[in-house]
Formats: sequence, structure tokens, C-alpha cells
Amino acid sequence: MDLSIVIPLYNEEESLPELSEWITRVMNENNFSYEVIMVDDGSTDNSWDVIERISANNPNFKGIKFQRNYGKSAALNEGFKAAKGDVVITMDADMQDSPDEIPELRRMIREDNYDMVSGWKKKRFDNRLTKNLPSKIFNAAARSISHIPLHDFNCGLKAYRRKVVKSIEVYGEMHRNIPVLAKWAGFRKIGEKVVEHRPRKYGVTKFGWERFINGFLDLSTLTFVGRFSKRPMHFFGLYGTLFFLFGSLSSLFLIIEKLTHKEYGLTNKPLFYIALAVMIMGMQLFLAGFIAELIARNAADRNNYLIERKIGIN
Ligand code: UDP
Ligand code: MG
Repeated sequence: MDLSIVIPLYNEEESLPELSEWITRVMNENNFSYEVIMVDDGSTDNSWDVIERISANNPNFKGIKFQRNYGKSAALNEGFKAAKGDVVITMDADMQDSPDEIPELRRMIREDNYDMVSGWKKKRFDNRLTKNLPSKIFNAAARSISHIPLHDFNCGLKAYRRKVVKSIEVYGEMHRNIPVLAKWAGFRKIGEKVVEHRPRKYGVTKFGWERFINGFLDLSTLTFVGRFSKRPMHFFGLYGTLFFLFGSLSSLFLIIEKLTHKEYGLTNKPLFYIALAVMIMGMQLFLAGFIAELIARNAADRNNYLIERKIGIN
């Protein structure tokens, strides 16, 4: 199968018929063998009935329905598990992403050898103040932290080599940071394509401005986890030791000073309080590292590596 198209959706009943017709048209024009996996993220409108109807007309359209709303990441993750195509495309259900981009995205994966290609909504049709500006800030932060040169991490329209989606787990709200997940899994060839973005025709947006704060916090988590989750002591231990050393040396200095200038008061010096605080913080950091280390030791995936190839070994 050439293509799996994964579409997470939550209350998008009006968009689905048009979207499915458009996708079908593009697939037929290009003679792709394909499947469309619509993941209904616990919609409370008639989305699921619409999916059943579409699927009855065209068996390439498949559906998964969650019992309740788990979020876009969960929906993508289920879609990824089910996907069978060589190239996996994700797109939003609200018709802000254009299916006409699919053939070129697929070509970039197959011929230009990208592991993953992310869409870039260069010209956006969203609210300027609540989305465009915060999005610029989030993307700049994401770029500088992850060293992945993308302009639009959170774009719903993306293409992946099948192996990539089978190697990553999208949990929580990590759908905004899938490029980072892919990079940590060892897929380094990440490309970008400017894609057409359209105004939302039906329904309403499901995300508010908090998305950028959450996205940034998730990014920090990912970066930290990626670097230190298997060796937390190398982070906490280092800073704990440095803090503690600085505190101890300052105390020593204060004691010597007190012994040599007897008239001098200890507790009216700022350094006294700084030394105290820093020593306590150092101990705390060290302890946090020690506990994290005990947890990492027991993590079920502590030795799960992604193996790319083997020779002579079953
Ligand atoms: N979505 C979802 N679960 C949710 C929220 C959103 O599956 O809990 C889907 C939604 O139906 C749409 C896509 O994720 O297909 C992107 O959402 P939306 O268009 O609201 O985001 P925006 O375009 O405003 O960034
Ligand atoms: Mg949208």
C-alpha cells in the first residue's frame, strides 16, 4: 500500500463529506493504493455516523472511535498503530490542510529520502494575535532548543516514512513536538514543505492560546528526557555538587573571616545567607538526582533500543 492518511477529528461532521471527496479525487488522479484512517476522538456530534457512511461507500476509508475525548496526540497515536502504508500522511479534518499537497509530500519521502516532512503554513488564515504571533515565538524556541530547522512544528499536515511512526509514541500533547520525538528516535532527515493553508470553513477551533505554553513546557520535558532520562545523576548530580561546593567554600571563607576578625558579625553578611541557601539547594538537587536514578534503573524501557539492521543474528 502506497499511502496511509491519518485524520484525527473531534466534532467535524460538516467537513468530513467534502474532505473525503477531495482526498478520493487526489488518490484516484494519482493512482495511489491507499487507506484513510479517520480517528474520531470521542466526538459528541454526528461525526461517527458520517464516517460510517463514507466507509460504506468507499472501503478505503476506515474509522476508529474513542469512547471519549482523549486529545489529538492519542488520536494520532492510534492511527499510527493501525497504518499500513509505506508513507503515512497526517492531516487535520477541518479542511485547513489541502489534500493536493499529498503527492508532493509522498514524493519527498520516497525520492528525496526524507524520514519526515513537515508542512509549513507560511501564509496563515488564523487569528493574527492569538495564533500567529505566539506561534512564531514557540517555533523559534523549538528551533533553538531542538536544533531542527523547521518553521512550523505544530502543522497538522505531515508525511512520514512508515518506520518513523512505528518507532515513536505520541502521548499527552506531544503532537506539537513530533519532529523532536522523531529526532530522538534517530530519524535525522527532517524536511519542510510550504503548504497551502485555508480558513476554517465549518466548525470551531479546538485549541486556545494555552497551546503555546503547553507546547513549550512539553518541549523542555522532551529535551530533558531525551538527554538525561537514562542518566539523571549526570544533570542533578553535577549542579548539586557545584552548588554544594560553592556553599561550602563560602562558609569556610566566612568562618576564617570570623576567626581572624573577632569583632565582625557573621549573620549580617549577605554571603552567609547565600551560602546557606546554596548548600541546601545543592543537597536537594543531589537527592533529586539520586531518586531519579533509582527510578530510571527500574524503568521498563531502560534497555529498549531501536535496532536498524542486523547481520547473522536472528
Ligand atoms: N482534534 C482532535 N482532538 C481534540 C482536538 C482537536 O482530534 O481534542 C482535531 C481536530 O478535529 C482537527 C485537528 O485536531 O482535525 C486540529 O484541530 P483544530 O483545527 O481545532 O486546530 P487549529 O487548526 O485551530 O490549530
Ligand atoms: Mg484547524
